[in-house]
Amino acid sequence: MPVTKELKRTLSSVLDEGLLSHAVLIEGEKGTGRKELALWLAKAILCRSEKRPCENCSVCRKIENGNHPDVEIFGGEGGARSFHIESIREIKNSLWLAPNESEQKVYILLNVENMTAEAQNALLKSLEEPPAHARFILTCDNRRSLLDTIISRSTVYTLEPPTGDECAAALMDEFSDFSEKDAKLFAVAYGGNFGAAKQAKEEGKADIVFLAAKTPEILRKGESYTLAAELSSLCKTRADLSEYLERLLNITGRCGIDRAAGKNTPVRVTPIEAVKTSDIIERGKTAVLQNCSLELIESWLCMELSGVFGGNL
Ligand SMILES: [Zn+2]
Repeated sequence: MPVTKELKRTLSSVLDEGLLSHAVLIEGEKGTGRKELALWLAKAILCRSEKRPCENCSVCRKIENGNHPDVEIFGGEGGARSFHIESIREIKNSLWLAPNESEQKVYILLNVENMTAEAQNALLKSLEEPPAHARFILTCDNRRSLLDTIISRSTVYTLEPPTGDECAAALMDEFSDFSEKDAKLFAVAYGGNFGAAKQAKEEGKADIVFLAAKTPEILRKGESYTLAAELSSLCKTRADLSEYLERLLNITGRCGIDRAAGKNTPVRVTPIEAVKTSDIIERGKTAVLQNCSLELIESWLCMELSGVFGGNL
């Protein structure tokens, strides 16, 4: 994950100077490496090596493997209001007990935007007057979904999404079968979100991304039947078709904007084509959510998109 480097440097120096706040809130959209950074910071706080975190000692390894007795992780991917007050009660029960093997205890609370209001209010007390040995690391997608009082008791660090180039470089490091061209395309298709792009690649969605990228070219050649055939073989579920539409939207949108600015783009799309495509995709997405047959939506899409990219039917 390339973007966290700078933030890690900042946190390291704050920590070295003894200025790290007892409550840190890491804000960033999904896929920017919030949890990774939270674990890294927990290691940096507890690791006793000269260069902290060393990622090598027993402290660092235990934290990485989720079995350090002084690092507790709560919350996760449960969705809205899935983070309940029971977890906060659990924290309160152990908060004032001395650490087990380190000098400090670290509580990592992931996706606190999923906390119920009741849980957020209960957490406030602990954030307000924690014992000296306790540290809190919170992550969230957007601080606006939290109570002001939680934010004011924390120091907020924001993870910016990586630029397209950073995302492409990280993808090439991660996947040896990616050419530079593929990596750049994926970066554009996922709006620079490395986590989302990586997951899609691992879940075998690459062909859908590549089809989205080829779509304008196929249609310019007047081969809407080729697009229809590939769509029906690759998009067998509503989720597949939504994925195709989202990637096509990102690719045409980004390439249209970049082209208007005179930049090189991995796919040739004019700004006007991008606008028209986005309109069709919005209607397509609505149709996917409703109970229309996939075949019908796919042939409708081929027809509409042909109109944009100048293909003949
Ligand atoms: Zn270490």
